[in-house]
Amino acid sequence: MGQSMAAKQQFLDLTRGLWAEVNPAKCPCKGQGWWFAWVGRYFRCPYHSQGVPHPDDTDAGPVDMVTHRLRILREAYRTFRAEAHKAGFLGDFKAACRRDLQGVVNPSPQQWVDMAEEIAARHTEVRQRRLKLVR
Ligand SMILES: [Zn+2]
Repeated sequence: MGQSMAAKQQFLDLTRGLWAEVNPAKCPCKGQGWWFAWVGRYFRCPYHSQGVPHPDDTDAGPVDMVTHRLRILREAYRTFRAEAHKAGFLGDFKAACRRDLQGVVNPSPQQWVDMAEEIAARHTEVRQRRLKLVR
Protein backbone atom coordinates (compact mmCIF):
# COMPACT_ATOMS: atom_id res chain seq x y z
CA MET A 1 0.00 0.00 0.00
CA GLY A 2 1.42 3.41 -0.97
CA GLN A 3 1.60 6.13 1.60
CA SER A 4 -1.41 8.04 0.37
CA MET A 5 -3.41 4.81 0.15
CA ALA A 6 -2.47 4.05 3.74
CA ALA A 7 -3.46 7.55 4.80
CA LYS A 8 -6.74 7.20 2.95
CA GLN A 9 -7.43 3.87 4.63
CA GLN A 10 -6.57 5.34 8.01
CA PHE A 11 -8.96 8.23 7.44
CA LEU A 12 -11.68 5.79 6.38
CA ASP A 13 -11.15 3.80 9.58
CA LEU A 14 -11.46 7.02 11.60
CA THR A 15 -14.69 7.89 9.79
CA ARG A 16 -16.10 4.42 10.36
CA GLY A 17 -15.39 4.67 14.06
CA LEU A 18 -13.25 1.52 14.21
CA TRP A 19 -11.43 3.16 17.12
CA ALA A 20 -14.49 3.22 19.36
CA GLU A 21 -15.03 1.08 22.47
CA VAL A 22 -18.38 0.09 23.99
CA ASN A 23 -17.22 1.05 27.49
CA PRO A 24 -17.21 4.87 27.53
CA ALA A 25 -14.36 4.91 30.06
CA LYS A 26 -12.17 3.16 27.47
CA CYS A 27 -13.50 4.93 24.39
CA PRO A 28 -11.36 7.72 22.93
CA CYS A 29 -14.51 9.92 22.94
CA LYS A 30 -14.81 9.35 26.72
CA GLY A 31 -18.55 9.09 26.26
CA GLN A 32 -18.78 12.60 24.80
CA GLY A 33 -19.87 11.24 21.44
CA TRP A 34 -17.14 12.90 19.39
CA TRP A 35 -13.41 12.31 19.30
CA PHE A 36 -10.91 14.94 18.25
CA ALA A 37 -8.36 12.78 16.45
CA TRP A 38 -4.76 13.54 15.67
CA VAL A 39 -5.66 14.48 12.09
CA GLY A 40 -7.19 17.65 13.50
CA ARG A 41 -10.93 17.11 13.30
CA TYR A 42 -13.79 15.48 15.17
CA PHE A 43 -15.07 12.00 14.40
CA ARG A 44 -18.45 10.68 15.43
CA CYS A 45 -18.43 7.79 17.89
CA PRO A 46 -20.68 4.95 16.71
CA TYR A 47 -21.56 4.01 20.30
CA HIS A 48 -21.89 7.28 22.19
CA SER A 49 -22.96 10.06 19.81
CA GLN A 50 -26.73 9.57 19.71
CA GLY A 51 -28.33 12.92 20.49
CA VAL A 52 -25.00 14.76 20.80
CA PRO A 53 -24.45 17.43 18.13
CA HIS A 54 -21.05 18.05 16.57
CA PRO A 55 -18.98 20.13 19.02
CA ASP A 56 -18.68 22.92 16.43
CA ASP A 57 -22.43 23.03 15.79
CA THR A 58 -23.30 26.40 17.31
CA ASP A 59 -26.98 26.16 16.36
CA ALA A 60 -27.52 23.04 18.45
CA GLY A 61 -29.26 23.44 21.75
CA PRO A 62 -27.76 22.32 25.04
CA VAL A 63 -27.47 18.60 25.71
CA ASP A 64 -28.13 17.07 29.11
CA MET A 65 -24.85 15.21 29.42
CA VAL A 66 -25.80 13.63 32.77
CA THR A 67 -28.78 11.92 31.18
CA HIS A 68 -26.66 11.10 28.12
CA ARG A 69 -24.00 9.50 30.31
CA LEU A 70 -26.53 7.33 32.18
CA ARG A 71 -28.10 6.24 28.90
CA ILE A 72 -24.81 5.20 27.27
CA LEU A 73 -23.75 3.38 30.45
CA ARG A 74 -27.06 1.48 30.46
CA GLU A 75 -26.54 0.60 26.80
CA ALA A 76 -22.97 -0.54 27.43
CA TYR A 77 -24.15 -2.74 30.30
CA ARG A 78 -26.78 -4.34 28.06
CA THR A 79 -24.23 -4.88 25.29
CA PHE A 80 -21.86 -6.71 27.65
CA ARG A 81 -24.73 -8.73 29.11
CA ALA A 82 -25.71 -9.81 25.59
CA GLU A 83 -22.06 -10.65 24.82
CA ALA A 84 -21.81 -12.78 27.94
CA HIS A 85 -25.01 -14.67 27.11
CA LYS A 86 -23.78 -15.19 23.56
CA ALA A 87 -20.57 -16.65 24.96
CA GLY A 88 -22.55 -19.12 27.06
CA PHE A 89 -23.17 -17.28 30.31
CA LEU A 90 -26.14 -18.82 32.05
CA GLY A 91 -28.10 -17.41 34.96
CA ASP A 92 -28.63 -14.02 36.48
CA PHE A 93 -26.12 -11.58 34.99
CA LYS A 94 -26.97 -8.77 37.41
CA ALA A 95 -26.44 -11.10 40.36
CA ALA A 96 -23.06 -12.14 38.93
CA CYS A 97 -22.03 -8.49 38.62
CA ARG A 98 -23.25 -7.75 42.14
CA ARG A 99 -21.33 -10.71 43.53
CA ASP A 100 -18.09 -9.59 41.90
CA LEU A 101 -18.67 -6.00 43.05
CA GLN A 102 -19.08 -7.10 46.64
CA GLY A 103 -15.99 -5.27 47.91
CA VAL A 104 -17.14 -2.01 46.36
CA VAL A 105 -19.26 0.34 48.47
CA ASN A 106 -22.12 1.86 46.44
CA PRO A 107 -20.79 0.89 43.01
CA SER A 108 -21.30 3.62 40.42
CA PRO A 109 -22.97 2.97 37.04
CA GLN A 110 -19.46 3.06 35.53
CA GLN A 111 -18.27 0.37 37.95
CA TRP A 112 -21.25 -1.79 37.00
CA VAL A 113 -20.30 -1.41 33.35
CA ASP A 114 -16.63 -2.24 34.07
CA MET A 115 -17.72 -5.39 35.89
CA ALA A 116 -20.15 -6.35 33.13
CA GLU A 117 -17.34 -5.96 30.60
CA GLU A 118 -15.03 -8.10 32.71
CA ILE A 119 -17.57 -10.90 33.04
CA ALA A 120 -18.35 -10.77 29.31
CA ALA A 121 -14.62 -10.89 28.47
CA ARG A 122 -14.10 -13.81 30.84
CA HIS A 123 -16.86 -15.84 29.19
CA THR A 124 -15.78 -14.92 25.67
CA GLU A 125 -12.24 -16.07 26.49
CA VAL A 126 -13.43 -19.38 27.93
CA ARG A 127 -15.61 -19.94 24.89
CA GLN A 128 -12.74 -19.22 22.49
CA ARG A 129 -10.49 -21.61 24.37
CA ARG A 130 -13.18 -24.29 24.16
CA LEU A 131 -13.64 -23.73 20.43
CA LYS A 132 -9.89 -24.20 19.92
CA LEU A 133 -10.01 -27.50 21.80
CA VAL A 134 -12.83 -28.75 19.59
CA ARG A 135 -10.88 -28.01 16.41
ZN1 LIG B 1 -17.28 6.65 22.27
